[in-house]
Amino acid sequence: MLALQEKIREEGIVLSEQVLKVDAFLNHQIDPALMQAIGDEFARRFEGQGVTKIVTLEASGIAPAVMAGLKMNVPVIFARKHASLTLTENLLTAEVYSFTKQVSNKVAVSPRHLAAHDHVLIIDDFLANGRAAQALISIIQQAGASIAGLGIVIEKSFQSGRAELDAQGYRVESLARVGSLAGGKVEFIE
Ligand code: 5GP
Repeated sequence: MLALQEKIREEGIVLSEQVLKVDAFLNHQIDPALMQAIGDEFARRFEGQGVTKIVTLEASGIAPAVMAGLKMNVPVIFARKHASLTLTENLLTAEVYSFTKQVSNKVAVSPRHLAAHDHVLIIDDFLANGRAAQALISIIQQAGASIAGLGIVIEKSFQSGRAELDAQGYRVESLARVGSLAGGKVEFIE
């Protein structure tokens, strides 16, 4: 997606050979027009796949997921990272090791919102080593639901997440694929 690549080139900050900071439009300040274009692109790529729900992870997956849900006319669930007094049921849970924060978090979804007949599109802001994606896959499997695929805003293709998901047979649609952050420069593939 060209507009996204341009935005990354203009406003992304390469923090290290592993980490790209995009808090000017995705992870802190949000560019609504770009999010809408991202949502439309996910909807186009997964059109006709019978998606009934979108599942993402709070907080940074929510904006692109909601825009995709709006276009696809399906509800959006965000897995929660913090126990809440209002989440009292038997939750579907999984552990996620956070690439950026280097801590392990339990994430949870209420089984009231996810059922065996659901066909789920997973959306997230970044794909690095795939820990967040694998946790969401586990939660969806616990609900007995099926997975249409994964929509990723920015994939860092030099980390292991993409290859692992490919090997598991999942369809992964990444709107920007970063091949390298070496030398402080963002190199895209494709
Ligand atoms: P993974 O679970 O695939 O290892 O990492 C994905 C998660 O870590 C994403 O949900 C995202 O929040 C965070 N993340 C991974 N790499 C980056 C990065 O380079 N920049 C930012 N801003 N977040 C990242």
